[in-house]
This record gives sequence, C-alpha cells and structure tokens, in this order.
Amino acid sequence: MYQEDDLLMISGIQHLAFCERQFSLIHVEEQWQENILTITGSLIHQKVDNPYIVEKRNDTITARSIKVASYKLGLTGIIDVIEFKKSDSPTNCIEIPKYKGFWQPLVMEYKRGKPKDIDCDKAQVCASAMCLEEMHNIKLEEGSIFYNATKHREPVFFTQELRDNVINYAKKMHYLYDNGITPKAILNKSCKSCSMNEICMPSLSKLNVDKYLKQIIS
Ligand code: SF4
Repeated sequence: MYQEDDLLMISGIQHLAFCERQFSLIHVEEQWQENILTITGSLIHQKVDNPYIVEKRNDTITARSIKVASYKLGLTGIIDVIEFKKSDSPTNCIEIPKYKGFWQPLVMEYKRGKPKDIDCDKAQVCASAMCLEEMHNIKLEEGSIFYNATKHREPVFFTQELRDNVINYAKKMHYLYDNGITPKAILNKSCKSCSMNEICMPSLSKLNVDKYLKQIIS
C-alpha cells in the first residue's frame, strides 16, 4: 500500500499509456507545453470542473469534480463527472447523504478529439473507477467517455485485461517517478499530435549524432 505522499496523478496514466517519455517529461521533469490540443482539452475541462455541483433529475444524480484516491495503485485525481442511478439493491451502490436509497455510480470523463486506437483514455477512466471502488468497497462494470469531436458518449468496460493494464501502468509510473527516469524519444505516429513534441524533439532520435554535429558546425 502506498502512503499519502506517494500518490501520483491519475491523469499520468493517460500520458504513460500514450508514451512513457511524455509521462516523464510532464510528471518527472515537470515540463509542460500547451498546444492547440491541450488548450482545447483545458477548455472542455473548465466546463466540467465546476466543483461541488450536484444536480438531481428523477432517478439520476450528477456530481462533478469528485476527488478520489487509491492507496493500492498509488494514484489520486479528480473524476470529471459521476452519474448515480437509483437502485433497489445496495450491491455495488453508494449511499449519498441527503438522498434516500442506494445509488449506482457511473464514472465519466470528458475528452477532446475522438476515440483512440490505444487504451490511454480507457485506462484513465478505469483507474478513476478503481479508486472509487477501493474507497467504497464496490465493484463497477463500466464507465464512459464523452468525446468532444464526435459529441458522443462511448462506454468503457472494466475488463480484467484493462484492469491489469491499469495496475501495470501505475507500477511503471511509480518506477519512472521514483527513479527520476525519462526514457529516450522514439519517433512514432503519435509524435505529431503530442503536446510535448517541441520539448521532446523526437526527430533528433533518428539522427546519427556525428552527422548531426557536423551539420550544426558546418
Ligand atoms: S514527441 Fe513522441 S517520443 Fe516525444 S514525448 Fe511525444 S510521443 Fe513521446
């Protein structure tokens, strides 16, 4: 079990699953670079990150910006939105002060862009859900991601495979963070849209160092 001081940001999972070097540049070296994609992302989150707002409509309660943590994963962060659906059974439900009965949570994140081929967004939602599970001793089957580009809500199923990936990503995050490691750049198709591209300079990884030095001194 991790201690309070060891906890890393849940959002780091998304960065690590996208590129381990990106994770280290942001979370280990604490460098950050805004590009149009991160600015769009921030604006979307400003809309969602309105803490302490709770709305109730019929049998659904919507709560925003909820802080969660897992001492097993060593992660903490803020869930964009949790929708609670009223349930007849207490199984895997939460009791909410002020509202009678049992409530089944559905974790939801907002993302710019559209669904990706890699599991980075899904891993982040699953990690958030695993935090909530640990805090309330419940088990959740699914969450969802709302993609701004498609204006569509995609379900995320918390399969054993996705849960195992989250555990491995969290371990890798702590390994890189605790040892101050930044992996070398490997130029790949994600580099084009990467928020750390200008700091990372991945194209240099393709260059022969001798050739590069000759180029800049000639
Ligand atoms: S530019 Fe490429 S190698 Fe560098 S951090 Fe981004 S994805 Fe990783």
